[in-house]
Amino acid sequence: MKGHRIGLICTLLFLAAGLVHAQEQCGTASKLIPSSSAGVADLQRIRDNIAGLSFAKQQGDTLIFPVVVHVIHNGGVGNISDSQIVDGLRIINEDFNRENADTSVTRSLFKPYAAAVGFKFMLAKLDSNGDSTAGIVRIDTSIIPHPEPTSPDFDNCKRLSAWPPDMYYNIWIVRSIQSGTLGYAQYPGTNFTYGGPWKTWGIVVRHDQWGTIGTSSADGRTGTHEVGHTFGLYHTFLSGSAGCGSVCDTTGDEVCDTPPNTYSGACSQLANTCTNDTSGNSVYDTNVVDQIENYMSYNTCQNMLSEGQKTRMRGFIAEFSILQGLSSDSNLFATGLIDTIPLHIKDEVRDGFVISVSPNPFYDEITFLVPKDLNTDRNNIRLINLLGQEMNYSIQYNYMIRNEQSVTLQVPSDLKSGLYFLKVGRNIAKVVKE
Ligand SMILES: [Zn+2]
Repeated sequence: MKGHRIGLICTLLFLAAGLVHAQEQCGTASKLIPSSSAGVADLQRIRDNIAGLSFAKQQGDTLIFPVVVHVIHNGGVGNISDSQIVDGLRIINEDFNRENADTSVTRSLFKPYAAAVGFKFMLAKLDSNGDSTAGIVRIDTSIIPHPEPTSPDFDNCKRLSAWPPDMYYNIWIVRSIQSGTLGYAQYPGTNFTYGGPWKTWGIVVRHDQWGTIGTSSADGRTGTHEVGHTFGLYHTFLSGSAGCGSVCDTTGDEVCDTPPNTYSGACSQLANTCTNDTSGNSVYDTNVVDQIENYMSYNTCQNMLSEGQKTRMRGFIAEFSILQGLSSDSNLFATGLIDTIPLHIKDEVRDGFVISVSPNPFYDEITFLVPKDLNTDRNNIRLINLLGQEMNYSIQYNYMIRNEQSVTLQVPSDLKSGLYFLKVGRNIAKVVKE
């Protein structure tokens, strides 16, 4: 039960310290541990991504993640308002884009390494059926989750409400968490002990830690901290059995511009818990103070993520296609966050079949095959122009062959020539009207 013990460290350190603010008592397990040879290979590829910056061209891109917030309340306790939900996302977005009001507090030593990570989290406007949504789900239940991934209760709230993880970043706001933690997260990747199925990937935060208004009694940065974990960040004070660690890119938090440090909940500007700050590929050429400013510490004086952390998170995204898909143009379109699909995108296969259209270009009708069990209602088959507007059509169900249904769409004769998108389920095909 080594994993169980490690998983509790976050919590126990907090309780034992006693002197820290109860702001970011976090239930996230300390480190990703490969649970199979596939996990070892995953981790190696992630490290290669980070070291080789093979994804560097994406570094400057803003990545938008469609969000669904599940409010898991009990008879109204913890049933926070829409505006508090939005406020919590505001804090996370400010912190991840270095638009927070307290950037000036970052000490000059660390300012060169403070990063605008470029992630934005936006409430989805369309659900996975293509219907309008506020991106908020409310569930009334008495159950409360446990942060330990080894606990049978770890996903009890998630089982009540979770949206497809290949389309949405799931956030669960809860009334309470067993063991008294204020939030926890699941690391990315299914081949790790503290990763897990994608459907439970995301963050769980107590309602009184979410945002700064309504029922919140905090600064909202538990959300920032937990989001960091979901993209592979560890606590900055994580040095494991090696104390201060040895080499900054493979021990401790595995980030070289967050100096090695051991746990300290205090906000002391003089704190300097490790002296091996120049080890490995460190950006520092002398022993420096601890980066108490970092959101992945447990301090209340936080105001930054680092460039190294940004690179690490993007290294994780580069490894997992499901994470790349979340912020893809086609997914932003599918979730209603952009109105048009840029021309450069390829046909998207998301439902396990290819939309094979004939003829293409077409004149007055398009025919294609879909799996027999696919919903072929009108709201699941859409013809969309470049402005995101839906075109009228009439539908005809033809023959069945094996496991497939042939469908024909007849379009009005005055449909303008040009490029259109045929969306069937979550698949998209480009079609051209002659
Ligand atoms: Zn944490």
